[in-house]
Amino acid sequence: MKLKDFPKEIRQYIIPGHKGKLVYRCLSCGSEYDIEKLLYTCPDCGQVLLIYDLNFDRLKEIPGKTWQRIFDYRKMLTIPALKGIYIYHEFIGPTIPLETVVYLGEGHTPVIEANSFLQEKAGVRFYFKNDGQNPSASFKDRGMASALSYIHFLVQKEYISDVLAICASTGDTSASAALYASFLQPHVKSAVILPHKKVTPQQLSQPLGSGAKVFEIPGVFDDCMKIVEVMSDSYNVALLNSKNAWRILGQESYSYEIAQDFEYDMNNKVVVVPIGNAGNITAVMSGFLKFYETGVIKDLPKIIGVQSKHANPVYRYYLEPDLSKRKFIPVTVKPSVAQAAMIGNPVSMPRVIHIVDLYNSMAGKQKIFFMEVTEQAIMDWELLANRNGHIACTHGGESLAGLVAAQKLGLIEINDTAVLDSTAHTLKFSGFQEMYFENKFSAEFKISPNTDLVNSPVFIHPKDLEKVPAPGKPLKGDDFHRFVNRISEEIAKELNLKKVRKE
Ligand SMILES: *Cc1c(COP(=O)(O)O)cnc(C)c1O
Ligand SMILES: [Zn+2]
Repeated sequence: MKLKDFPKEIRQYIIPGHKGKLVYRCLSCGSEYDIEKLLYTCPDCGQVLLIYDLNFDRLKEIPGKTWQRIFDYRKMLTIPALKGIYIYHEFIGPTIPLETVVYLGEGHTPVIEANSFLQEKAGVRFYFKNDGQNPSASFKDRGMASALSYIHFLVQKEYISDVLAICASTGDTSASAALYASFLQPHVKSAVILPHKKVTPQQLSQPLGSGAKVFEIPGVFDDCMKIVEVMSDSYNVALLNSKNAWRILGQESYSYEIAQDFEYDMNNKVVVVPIGNAGNITAVMSGFLKFYETGVIKDLPKIIGVQSKHANPVYRYYLEPDLSKRKFIPVTVKPSVAQAAMIGNPVSMPRVIHIVDLYNSMAGKQKIFFMEVTEQAIMDWELLANRNGHIACTHGGESLAGLVAAQKLGLIEINDTAVLDSTAHTLKFSGFQEMYFENKFSAEFKISPNTDLVNSPVFIHPKDLEKVPAPGKPLKGDDFHRFVNRISEEIAKELNLKKVRKE
């Protein structure tokens, strides 16, 4: 729709006009820094940063109802810069000019209600929001669109030139970083550091295909993270991990979309997110808070963060009910099918601690909960979901397992509706499905396949069939007829089919 065709009273707001004043703010000492420099940690005290808009209160001058209409009408625009996460420009990056926005098709992922069979099994009304339907097939694209639009802005302003973007990854960060960086080549090049054999073949193929420099090192993600932290302190590189606060801003779009998907009614809603480095849950909480503060939503949804027992430092931290006794202790991870969340020392932990307190106090009661689930539960729920029309990855399975665990603990009310983050596309983690079907998990996983969920191909080649076709060697005449008939018979036998009588 063209701008002139929008209702008059809304037209003035359609193209974002808010002049934000963004700063990095240290969560520990409160120091603020200009965003015209790339910063990851506080130069004074070394703590992680978040980005705040010093003009944020001006957004409150527009009524919540008007904001809702602005976002709803913006969906009719055909301007690429406003088609992705920057449809929420005022909340996500009000200093990023539309000309420097990098849009590769991220965001506005489908929200799919589970069928009645699956809802009954789970005991809760729920939807999956399929973030695997982003361009690099994970939610990381939301944060990368933000981080790379910002870098693009710095390049255009000639604050920096020839950027080398670098990240550590459990697979999806590198896929996304490499994709977005490749769009900005030759100004931006990317290098990614992966734990050898700890990312799936699909995830490894992605940065290779995008032309990134790919390094594999011994160890786990936490080791890779340490290396890029040291490198970003000592060399001239742009860090693209979620330690980079721009990533968090972009990922807030997940919450804004949920609000919009449910017509801004967050009453009795529960949002379930898997936790790894804890950037995503930080963003999800922060997004809902911003919409709440500006009256775009009237209620804060419940949020459930889920971790595998094999990588559960955040869950463990919140096990202690006494605030004054809580102490963060990193854990040593064990192998997990939720491999992209296999992180023992989450970089965003200080952000989580800060925002959980804020969220619960704004809500006036506890609204954030943490669950842990077994590897077995993750696989079983993923596979069951996918047998019912979904495309959940193992982390989507983890969300569902976490929801079921929360329901059993009495944390879900009868009228609640849950929205589950399936953070990546199932195909990225199909190797785990294969291990399940072939019962090939090593003992550490403690996963034994439920035979109802196992599936495998059946090879059909009857013994009495000598001649079969091969590439470049088709069968002809009677041989071909015999081949077609015998194979059809065998498949029909396998499927217990009855022959129809021809009149
Ligand atoms: C990165 C990732 C996570 C974990 O998100 P964090 O922000 O690190 O907590 C979960 N699932 C998938 C598929 C991921 O790629
Ligand atoms: Zn500081």
